[in-house]
Amino acid sequence: MIDDKVKIKCSKCSMMFRERAQRVRNGFQKQCPHCLKLITFDTSSEDNNIRRALKSARELRQALEDVAASAPALTESNSGQA
Ligand SMILES: [Zn+2]
Repeated sequence: MIDDKVKIKCSKCSMMFRERAQRVRNGFQKQCPHCLKLITFDTSSEDNNIRRALKSARELRQALEDVAASAPALTESNSGQA
């Protein structure tokens, strides 16, 4: 099972937190759980922490898609039943 969260470093308080890679994409906003700074994830941001988080999120999403494509669909047996 792949961990679907990426680590994000807050530029204000330098604390790390985690967010799901599926959510971390261009335009996504998240409040730092430590200092409550609202962080906007923008690929053109000058903040290296933000660009790095976006990059790892993109790579992780790709890895998750690869796993999903190669593994049998685990949810299929549950979805068709009334
Ligand atoms: Zn913070």
